[in-house]
Amino acid sequence: MTTETKTTTAETHQDSMFDAVLARLDVAAKICGLSDNAANVLRNPQKQVKVSLPVMMDNGKIQIFEGFRTIHSTILGPSKGGIRYAMDVCDDEVKALSAWMTFKCAVANLPYGGAKGGIKCDPRKMSVGELERLTKAYTIAMSDVFGPDKDIPAPDMGTSGREMAWLLDAFNKSHRGDFPAVTTGKPVGLGGSLGRDAATGRGVMVATLAALKKMNKKPENVTAAVQGFGNVGSHAARLLSEKGIKVCAIGDHTATFWNEKGIDIYAALSYVKNNGGILKGFTGGTEIKNTELLTSKVDVLVPAALQNVITEEIATQIKATLIVEGANGPTTPEADHILNEKNIIVVPDILANGGGVTVSYFEWVQNRYGYYWSEEEVNAKHDASMSLAFEQVWNNGQQYKTTMRIGAYISALKKVELGIIAKGVY
Ligand code: GLU
Repeated sequence: MTTETKTTTAETHQDSMFDAVLARLDVAAKICGLSDNAANVLRNPQKQVKVSLPVMMDNGKIQIFEGFRTIHSTILGPSKGGIRYAMDVCDDEVKALSAWMTFKCAVANLPYGGAKGGIKCDPRKMSVGELERLTKAYTIAMSDVFGPDKDIPAPDMGTSGREMAWLLDAFNKSHRGDFPAVTTGKPVGLGGSLGRDAATGRGVMVATLAALKKMNKKPENVTAAVQGFGNVGSHAARLLSEKGIKVCAIGDHTATFWNEKGIDIYAALSYVKNNGGILKGFTGGTEIKNTELLTSKVDVLVPAALQNVITEEIATQIKATLIVEGANGPTTPEADHILNEKNIIVVPDILANGGGVTVSYFEWVQNRYGYYWSEEEVNAKHDASMSLAFEQVWNNGQQYKTTMRIGAYISALKKVELGIIAKGVY
């Protein structure tokens, strides 16, 4: 067991995601001796914008949606972070996710600060036309916030290249020009980067292999369960199985499957493609409960769907010895302590899913350069960058005798603190 000072308690940090961020920040700050000045700056997001968006629905009625964008920090560069469309989007969630972006970008050694945005809506219940009008209304409302050198959005839960193309169009029209670097995760052909779609899953794969190496385990002797079969989980499952890992469980919001012999990920991918994007009805495994996937008998667990799925209760039942967090915030701070006591290695979200924003950065560089790289080039740069970030975090964990999560926070906090000191505060 490594030392992770219990300065936070379940009572204080249970309900708020932002409190969960502060809980980890406090622990890491104490261990690495972060100055109170830097800690205070980072405990408070720089800017929070909330807008109401009237949208003409297909039935001829106007519906008002709430839109959010929180810029947590611009210390290390323009703020970067995705836009989420979901019903649970709120101030607290966006604030927490924006802070994680600051730390994620710093861990990945990118010249960015952190931000996050979102719209409270259920995209599955909206038509394509309604989603386009909503996205464009949001972009216009945020047109002074976004900018290639100010704040650069990207896809997140419930959004994809399609929404980024609409966002680009609305931004270009309102700023009278062509500004591909205002957003990343765009479709290839509109300034998107090859390799961006698979990048987050690819980063999960690189982080998993790096962790297995530290554990002296060979991929071909390892089994895995992947929760989530969207942009992160599906690519992660595919890439893990391509590296020889037997993926025994996969699942999405509609169904979860177990197959002791390993699930044929290609069959699952083509099933999802032909089945309206969902796993329900897949026949490549026996159907199990979503929570059973988390506690199944595998070596590696990849939560790549929602936040707060690994609770104290689930943590006590987890059998995997390695957890690689593809999702943002899948583990509660209280569960962290249990996983630590059980000697389970957790590759934390701000490291493990940093592959997405790393290739976002490459996309932004290519947009500004006006010259586009091959997929091999993008992947090679990505893998090198992820491997370096992994080593830095691992070494911090060893040096400070703490978990990889706190090691990742230390890695980020030190870089941001240097930026705060060097820039000065007036
Ligand atoms: N939404 C992704 C994340 O949480 C990507 C952000 C980006 O590329 O800016 O990391």
